[in-house]
Amino acid sequence: MADCNHDCSSCGENCSTRDKKSLLKKPHEMSDIKKVIAVVSGKGGVGKSMTCALLAAAAQNSGKVTAVMDADITGPSIPRMFGVTERAMGSDNGILPVVTEGGVQVMSMNVLLENEAEPVVWRGSLISGTVLQFWTDVIWSGVDIMFIDMPPGTGDVPLTVFQSIPVDGIVVVTTPQDLVGMIVQKAVNMAQMMNIPILGIVENMSYIKCPDCGRKISVFGESNVDAIAMEYGIPNVAKLPIDQSLTKAADNGKIEEVENNYLTDFFNKIAKKIKA
Ligand code: ADP
Repeated sequence: MADCNHDCSSCGENCSTRDKKSLLKKPHEMSDIKKVIAVVSGKGGVGKSMTCALLAAAAQNSGKVTAVMDADITGPSIPRMFGVTERAMGSDNGILPVVTEGGVQVMSMNVLLENEAEPVVWRGSLISGTVLQFWTDVIWSGVDIMFIDMPPGTGDVPLTVFQSIPVDGIVVVTTPQDLVGMIVQKAVNMAQMMNIPILGIVENMSYIKCPDCGRKISVFGESNVDAIAMEYGIPNVAKLPIDQSLTKAADNGKIEEVENNYLTDFFNKIAKKIKA
């Protein structure tokens, strides 16, 4: 623009030189968070939280100080998967995350509610405000890598989160029944708007393994996730089977102890990509 004064806060124009970081919020002054990965999906119930929890468990097992911010305010499942039952404590300085048995720092609506069965019936602005407080008011200590379990879809809450928190990369979770092409396209568009790379796609419920012969059976038919990842230049694809041991571990709050963390290699690859 000819009359650009390089002060984006004084201008509503969405030009190519617009300072995309201008809406970023500062974390709590006592926080230290090196890298942030957001886990997104097109809709609920596809295994976004499962993916987020397995990635966090893989990160923690690799020796990194790990945190999970559960931004899925109306459907928080991270505390249950990690077996967290206590409430978050506050100090004069801010709110302290709850720490799992394995050492992962967790903040979620469920560790703030007195009764975790209580539904959160809030409007979008209040929900995004709460997520931002998880960033600005919680004291995250010496975190190498934080995973954000995003609310599903591309509504105003995810948008606010992406505009306000400096996310280093995005992981997209889909299932074979999804319209994968469309979901990835939406995620790619959103990521481009925010200038954030998509680090990989996790295809959840990709197959089951026959308990007798070990053959992989694609219950929902063969997916085209590899071709789509290639089309959009997304560097990593992981395929997560339907595995009862994952459901059991998640239901019993033992996701950190799951015998086979299928996402360990995938985690190593995406961590390398963002130099985490
Ligand atoms: P989302 O976060 O997308 O809403 P969740 O991660 O909460 O979905 O998963 C929904 C349910 O499916 C949970 O009960 C979870 O334990 C289960 N689940 C997710 N992925 C798998 C899997 N690969 N194998 C077995 N159960 C799974």
